[in-house]
Amino acid sequence: MEDPRFRVTIDNFVPGQGWTLWMPTPGPIGSGTRCVVLRTKLSHCSEAFAHYVIAHEFAHAFLRNGPWGEILDVEEAADALAATWGFLRPPASGSL
Ligand SMILES: [Zn+2]
Repeated sequence: MEDPRFRVTIDNFVPGQGWTLWMPTPGPIGSGTRCVVLRTKLSHCSEAFAHYVIAHEFAHAFLRNGPWGEILDVEEAADALAATWGFLRPPASGSL
């Protein structure tokens, strides 16, 4: 949370107009910009699924969208880290 290049925001998509996203410019190698954009449609999902999605996206940011230990697939790595935080992927939720 101390990283000035990390940000969390809620998407402002307007049908027919698009959306905007402001984020800091990337820093030196190894300190790229990370931004978790939460979609408003999460409010229509089950609470468990919304929590999982948010944890999964935070895991991507934490891992800088990279592997985690021996887990090289970035999606599996995000899922595994989110699971250690207590947010397991709900059944039949597809990929994010
Ligand atoms: Zn993902």
